[in-house]
Amino acid sequence: MLPLLASAVIVIAGMLLMADRARRDADRARQAQVVMEHISAISERFDAITWRSLATLDDSAPQAVVAQGVQAYRDMTSALRQLRRLGVPRARIAAIERPLGATYGIGIQTTVLSRRDPAASQRMARTEFSPTLERLNAAVAAAGRQQGINARAAQRRTWLGWVGSLVVGLPMLALLAWRLHHMRRRSAVAEQARSIERRGEQHLRAVMRHSSDVVSLIDASSSVRWIAESVRGMLGYEPEELVGRHLTELVHPDEAHRVVRFLHDAAEQEGRVGRLSLRLRAADGDYRQLEAIADNRLGDTEIAGILLNLRDVTERLALEEQLRHQAFHDSLTGLANRALFEDRLTRALVRVRRHGGHAAVLFIYLDDFKTVNDSLGHGVGDGLLRTASSRLTDVLRAQDTAARLGGDEFAVLLEDLDEPGEASEVAERVRRALEVPLTMEDRRLQSSASIGIAWADRDTTAEELLGNADVAMYAAKERGKAQVARFEPVMRERVLERLNLTGELGSALENGELLLQYQPVVELDTGRISGVEALIRWEHPVRGRLAPDRFIALAESTSLIVPIGRWVLETACAQLRRWDDLGTSAGGLEMSVNVSTRQLADLGFPGDVRAVLERTAIAADRLTLEITEHVLLEDSEDMQRQLRALKEIGVRLAVDDFGTGYSALSYLQSFPIDILKIDRSFVSGIDHDREKARLVQGIVEMGRNLQLRVITEGIEEAGEAALLRDFRSEYGQGFLFSRPVDPPAIVALLAGDMPAPLILDPKAA
Ligand code: C2E
Ligand code: MG
Ligand code: MG
Repeated sequence: MLPLLASAVIVIAGMLLMADRARRDADRARQAQVVMEHISAISERFDAITWRSLATLDDSAPQAVVAQGVQAYRDMTSALRQLRRLGVPRARIAAIERPLGATYGIGIQTTVLSRRDPAASQRMARTEFSPTLERLNAAVAAAGRQQGINARAAQRRTWLGWVGSLVVGLPMLALLAWRLHHMRRRSAVAEQARSIERRGEQHLRAVMRHSSDVVSLIDASSSVRWIAESVRGMLGYEPEELVGRHLTELVHPDEAHRVVRFLHDAAEQEGRVGRLSLRLRAADGDYRQLEAIADNRLGDTEIAGILLNLRDVTERLALEEQLRHQAFHDSLTGLANRALFEDRLTRALVRVRRHGGHAAVLFIYLDDFKTVNDSLGHGVGDGLLRTASSRLTDVLRAQDTAARLGGDEFAVLLEDLDEPGEASEVAERVRRALEVPLTMEDRRLQSSASIGIAWADRDTTAEELLGNADVAMYAAKERGKAQVARFEPVMRERVLERLNLTGELGSALENGELLLQYQPVVELDTGRISGVEALIRWEHPVRGRLAPDRFIALAESTSLIVPIGRWVLETACAQLRRWDDLGTSAGGLEMSVNVSTRQLADLGFPGDVRAVLERTAIAADRLTLEITEHVLLEDSEDMQRQLRALKEIGVRLAVDDFGTGYSALSYLQSFPIDILKIDRSFVSGIDHDREKARLVQGIVEMGRNLQLRVITEGIEEAGEAALLRDFRSEYGQGFLFSRPVDPPAIVALLAGDMPAPLILDPKAA
């Protein structure tokens, strides 16, 4: 732009100068023309003077003529000087000067001669002066013409100059104006761009200020050159505080080495260097978990530094941790889940193999969880699981891992054990902790756990170990609830058997493989059989006769217990009817039937009972339903309702296995109980064990006070029977009197063919 402007100015100025010069030339030429006309007039005056002097040749006249001639000459020469000043070419002036000089000289001579010889003078005037004057006039006229031509040419040049200036200058001016316009537009656009840029920068700055990321520029030595304002929000520093400081000053000491290496790599290597997670100290002294991405732009002249993008990943990591936790933990109890447990177990076994030491697994089953969950609802069930898991962790050591494997199954990994006894101790602690009654939604619940222990050998796999603990747990469960069992290889066979049996039990009922035996309940004082208890057996086609403890738990776990239980009830009552019809029962024989938890929870159960009694025409008060103490410990609304419904029918209710529930006895008052059956574990050996004897005596007395009938189970020895008689326990049941027997044996017993206390041989049963 500047060169164009300069050349335009020069050209136009040149043109204007030329035009101006032409104008001045023209002016001078015009002035010269005027002077020339003046000269021409003088020259004519000369002419006139001459002719007058020629005409008037007297003495007085010549003086004036001469004076006029001299004056004219002087005017002429001064006019010629003017012409010279006006720049008229010398040659043109000389063309006048010469005839003027000659004219003047001859004029003087003529004048001088006229004084002496007027005639000669007149001749001279005619012959010499006149022609000279004519030459002068001709020269003046010629010069005048020439001057006119010159003046017109100068005028033309002036015009041309102006026109030329206009012709050249105007387009240049137009061009200039156009360029200027463009320039202005360009600068407006540029200004606009700059403003957009400025706005963009503001946006960028705002984005950086409000961004969760912090962009910073550091130099090769990791000293901060610039850092975005958002650092205030992230770390609590003012940007100025950090500028000039080394980033490494803020790095957590544990990570300093790694970060220094990363920044060193970033300084060495052009472009992006990748990510690094690091902790930086915030203004409040706490460390924030960040992620850094470095981008080496040292080679970029505009940036000439390393761009470091910092992102606070504390929340992300927390979320990841949460997700990880969720993936490896049970959401209800917060304990490890199966996946995490198996992982820990595998690692523990690797350590055992490498460094020796011992590990064990406890497999824990919450005994009545299913019942609680089914009868009291999931809310209570969940509460029970949570309480159980917190109790579990309370009794474990820090290095132990507790996990919930599913529904009501838990597992514990015990590491760094010195001997198997330690595992048993922990298992015992767990069992006791899970036995403490708990209150949930104003209900008192008695929980218990069956625990299996498996001990790891050098080459046990995780799967085997967990499987063994599971098997041991089943064994514990089979021994009765709330037991601890250590794994033995033989247990595994039993588990396999259980699995097979479960499959076969489904068809046992249809195939008529189930049967009932009856065990008499005897009046201890008289030996009279007051009733019988129906006890189920399975006549297995391959395994032979199986006792209920081999399959009742299976039936309960598969819900087969409901149809089986119905069959038992029906069969027992039908049997009683038959005996009645035979006249063997003397009309007063009572029948006891065992009822499992699942059956009781079945809402149709009271209806079933009523229907069976009606069908068999048995009076309701001759039927006793035996319910294990564990069931009654779940003091639930549903249970109360079921029991009330049964009581309304008129049947009796017995608490079976009394004393094994570790219970408070309050339920004896809250449930409509008629009979208490003291578990045989209290009875065996009472004749040798005073403590035990006193306990049984206490229970008998309590039962009497509550107006309950008390039946003592499992009486095997006459001594035991005698002692119980002393305690005024009215009824007893046991091998001493009779094993459970088939119906014909009962008929014989009732007929007195076989005195009850004498039937001691099991084979006879
Ligand atoms: P339970 O109801 O306590 O029955 C008494 C158990 O003690 C019977 O075992 C009986 O044979 C046994 N017994 C009786 N006197 C003596 C004795 O002097 N010494 C010893 N060592 N044992 C004695 P059984 O028949 O094996 O039944 C075991 C359990 O199976 C029963 O305990 C009962 O809880 C359950 N059960 C039996 N039949 C049924 C049934 O039809 N339905 C349900 N749900 N459970 C049943
Ligand atoms: Mg029973
Ligand atoms: Mg019992």
